Amino acid sequence: MDHMKLTGEDLLSIIKPNYQVTKNFNYSDFICPCCDTLKLVPAFYNHVTLLEILWNRVGFPFVVISGYRCKLRNADVGGAPRSWHLLFATDVRPADKDYSKIDILWEAAEGLFTGIGIYEEHIHVDLRPETLIWRG
Ligand SMILES: [Zn+2]
Repeated sequence: MDHMKLTGEDLLSIIKPNYQVTKNFNYSDFICPCCDTLKLVPAFYNHVTLLEILWNRVGFPFVVISGYRCKLRNADVGGAPRSWHLLFATDVRPADKDYSKIDILWEAAEGLFTGIGIYEEHIHVDLRPETLIWRG
């Protein structure tokens, strides 16, 4: 094999990286879906570490339905103009879509995250400086 002719795409097909961040999360769970972007700010790593603690607290799997959003994506989904998703925030829902578990998620998120929004089918969590808990 002529190694000089291997492209990046060839290498990716061989090594199949999973881009794992922590035990239960991969980078791909958090990227903006319209532009494949993610800001690797300290808030990102703090946030994902806290999601792992949340996972242990609730004792059931949950999935990220929205993570980092670029301005375009945020506008498309009707996010607040100064949404924390523009820096970093996540919306998570129970993996099995049993929405009776939403209350367990938000109660467990208290004391971990400072921004907690409770919605019918997900909770929003972020690390804003002043604590705010709301019902959407
Ligand atoms: Zn985007």
